[in-house]
Amino acid sequence: MKSTFQIAVFQGDGIGPEIMAPTVELLSGLATAGGYGLNFADAPAGAAHYRDTGESFPVASMEAARSADAILLSAMGLPDVRYPDGTEISPQIDLRKALTLFAGVRPITIRPGQPTPLATDKPVDFVLIRESTEGLFYTQGRGEVERDEARETLRITRAICEPLFKFAFDLAASRKAAGRGPGKVTCVDKANVFRAFAFFREMFDAEAAKHPGLEADHAYVDATALWMVERPWSFDVMVTENMFGDILSDLGAGLMGGLGLAPSADIGADHAVFQPCHGSAPDIAGQGVANPMAMILSAAMMLEWLGGRHGVPAMTADGARLRDAVDKVVAEARVLTRDLGGTAGTADVAAAVKEALA
Ligand code: ATP
Repeated sequence: MKSTFQIAVFQGDGIGPEIMAPTVELLSGLATAGGYGLNFADAPAGAAHYRDTGESFPVASMEAARSADAILLSAMGLPDVRYPDGTEISPQIDLRKALTLFAGVRPITIRPGQPTPLATDKPVDFVLIRESTEGLFYTQGRGEVERDEARETLRITRAICEPLFKFAFDLAASRKAAGRGPGKVTCVDKANVFRAFAFFREMFDAEAAKHPGLEADHAYVDATALWMVERPWSFDVMVTENMFGDILSDLGAGLMGGLGLAPSADIGADHAVFQPCHGSAPDIAGQGVANPMAMILSAAMMLEWLGGRHGVPAMTADGARLRDAVDKVVAEARVLTRDLGGTAGTADVAAAVKEALA
């Protein structure tokens, strides 16, 4: 059984290196105590790298990502560093395409003590899966624009949707086994209006039939936006098309009181990238005040994914412990960064998470 794993580390831009360093330190401590190995290898890429070298994503870094067991990425891009055509430098999108990372996994969790615009103290804990390679983003950058008309194409394929839905049901099963959810998957679509979404739903139903121990239901995307605000605790795992998922994941971040506690993963058949939902926050870079929690929670997702995939229970357990440690620090509300209403710095929060782990 494999017990040592290669992790490609994209330190990124802005606050990226500041939140990555304590995260790698926490992971190294867990690995040493847990009896598994994590070998971290830096993969240079991003806007600062482009400014300094003229290259935004060196071939060697792509190769390091491709050959790694998992990829940790902080945030890339700087508003004032752009390609000559004016577009931003975003190697994370290149990675998603090159490694066919079709499942964008966005946990929506409201912990005790976490600021939220919702007037409820009911715990909220569900996962939004956004298909990330096709849908309405299929013609991204290739849309046709004429004088009086513009066209983009929505594409839904069996090759992507079948593994996507399998991933969603497997996730619901593992959450159910861990006591985190009832084992329910909701297909979010617009099957009442578009034939492509009826096809999407048909493939979802075929996968659902293979999981008699799990619940499956459907919801239209517009109603889902309403229910995410009215009764977000009723969801467990939801799976949807790229553009719908893009919009609903920001709604989810809003429910979570912002991006400081929002982790994510982009997962495919053979590769996965774990990164916070927030960007490189150049406005606060270099001040030591960035909140590392979303990065740490993304690292926890990485441990759970690697542990499940390779059958290493210690890693799966450490993923849950790391998440619980962050929950504890948030609930205690003693050591929080400014975005969560506190005055602590990045290093203080990392130290508090380390203490909560012990
Ligand atoms: P991108 O387009 O790359 O996602 P963005 O322009 O939407 O980025 P962010 O870089 O996420 O924005 O920053 C948005 C705001 O949130 C900024 O004011 C930033 O300082 C703040 N912010 C983002 N991440 C953090 C963090 N980890 N800790 C504290 N504040 C943060």
